[in-house]
Amino acid sequence: MQPQPPSRRIRPRRLAAIGTVTALTLALSTSAGTGRLAPGTSTAGPGPAALSRSSAHGPCMISGGSEIQMSEGVPTSAGYARSTGTVRALTLMIDFSDAPGEGKALDRYAEFFPQTAKWFRTSSYGRLDYRPETPIRSWLRMPKSFAEYGIERGAPFEPGYRKMVQDMVAAADAKVDFREYDLVNVLVTPNAGPSALDTVLSVTFAGNKEAPVADGVPVANASFVYSRQDDGSGSYGETGYRVLPHENGHVFGLPDLYTQEGGGAAGHWDIMSEDWGANNDLLGWHKWKLGWLDPSQVHCASAPGATEYTLTPLARKGGDKLVVVPLDGRTGYAVELRTREGNDETVCRPGVLIYRVDADVDTGMGPVRVYDSQRDSGGCTRSANVHAELSDAAFRPGETFKDPRRGITIAVSATDGNGEQQVRITRR
Ligand SMILES: [Zn+2]
Repeated sequence: MQPQPPSRRIRPRRLAAIGTVTALTLALSTSAGTGRLAPGTSTAGPGPAALSRSSAHGPCMISGGSEIQMSEGVPTSAGYARSTGTVRALTLMIDFSDAPGEGKALDRYAEFFPQTAKWFRTSSYGRLDYRPETPIRSWLRMPKSFAEYGIERGAPFEPGYRKMVQDMVAAADAKVDFREYDLVNVLVTPNAGPSALDTVLSVTFAGNKEAPVADGVPVANASFVYSRQDDGSGSYGETGYRVLPHENGHVFGLPDLYTQEGGGAAGHWDIMSEDWGANNDLLGWHKWKLGWLDPSQVHCASAPGATEYTLTPLARKGGDKLVVVPLDGRTGYAVELRTREGNDETVCRPGVLIYRVDADVDTGMGPVRVYDSQRDSGGCTRSANVHAELSDAAFRPGETFKDPRRGITIAVSATDGNGEQQVRITRR
């Protein structure tokens, strides 16, 4: 049996990722001058096109204040990459004179594909047709050394990333028409910069309209992946790609769910919380935000009284997936059924997951909090790099979540044997 890798393997990721948030903040505040995401005007919004704007969902379409950089609000603000239909991902492999690519560039590419495209196909029920494209199939050499760009943990967009993106665009321009792509992946040679075990540099600049322009369009949504996220379990070949769907999640407008303390807010229930270790899916909330759920699959429990809902497993196509219990214009409870299937590989106590979404809490500050039905149990998983305590958070038949102050109860009732689950939601 594989022992748990030491926790320090994951901790640097957390710290680094906070740097990531800082980078985003600095990038946006420096370039846009407002500290806010620069709203896009063209390139189609993300999934929300599919969102219902009917009065039935209205009370559940929560939103955050204007100072929030990356919000859980529905619909997602404009400027991010489209998250439904065919999405073309320009994928460049870059290296430097002081970190020349080792082996073939396409071997670096193969660390992330086809797994990333498959991950999105599975998670989106086929609604996101992710097409990675490599018009340049060898290492793209940057004109400056890696050291000269000054890329380090939390590095701001100015001047390092701006210079690097400008140089990358210039180097690729003869062979690439940047207008043809929805997002850009930059797979940096793994020998540039520190090991991901020490410092995770991987970062995404999302919704940044002030980014350098290529072929007349800003490189507004770009993910940079460094080093290798080797979880120490010997399964890098199966799990190492997962940093890319996480980073691309930002490109589609999703915030980070981990906090400075790590994955204790949302556990392994979403790839925006934990992207090391065994595979996991996205929360139903995120699938709604991305436009992967039909309006009929999402229910808004805003009316007083008791209502019953029948949830089908989130990983499975079709059926009712998400019930939202709005608390006010900014927050709500979300209720969904999680089982061990699809991208959810580590679910050890299947059941009804209940979490609070706060659109007024920024990325990396804990915008989602999962409620633990088995507090202080230590959890049910032994999987490496999976937040253990919340692994058994889901509510089982007979268990009830209560918010006495607001007069809300969410009771998990019978199961019908088809893997569906009834919940009864009461509010005063
Ligand atoms: Zn992130």
